[in-house]
Amino acid sequence: MSITALSPMSAARLPLSAAFLQALHGAARHDAALAETMRDAGYAAGQALHVQFTEWLAQRHEAPPAQLGDQRFPTLLAEFLAADGWGTLTIESIGESVLSLSSPDWIEAPVHLEPSGQPSCHVSTGLWAGLLGEIAGAPLAALEVECRAAGAEQCRWLIASPDVLAYVYEAMERGTDWDRAAASA
Ligand SMILES: [Zn+2]
Repeated sequence: MSITALSPMSAARLPLSAAFLQALHGAARHDAALAETMRDAGYAAGQALHVQFTEWLAQRHEAPPAQLGDQRFPTLLAEFLAADGWGTLTIESIGESVLSLSSPDWIEAPVHLEPSGQPSCHVSTGLWAGLLGEIAGAPLAALEVECRAAGAEQCRWLIASPDVLAYVYEAMERGTDWDRAAASA
């Protein structure tokens, strides 16, 4: 991780077009080092997004993110992200210890390009780990298991502790479907 600390200005909001993210996405298709850099940058953006989400909630007289109930949290996070144009997000629990985030219209995936071979919304993958790790107060890892840029109908990420996600990843490497792997974690 090359980006570790947020400066006071890091949570400033910039109106950048989706084309910025999608151009990075396209450039990382054949560049594993760039993909990792994008996940690191997404992680820092996710930490900053936690600040923004907290402020957004306060303006609505809602509790801070970590104190929202299991019903309110998914609804409000989805509303917050949709208002900024990220896409339509569904947040669900799978089994005891895995969270699923999915979207049929997530903005990072450039679906106008030829489908890539594997999930590749790297900035968003880092974003979830940064944002949700801040909310949980503990390290979380994110893995994109379905991606619109790879021809799927939606992008879907699994979020869990690094140990649990490593177990899910290894099960998937052995050929287990992501949903069965996540449910058994
Ligand atoms: Zn994707």
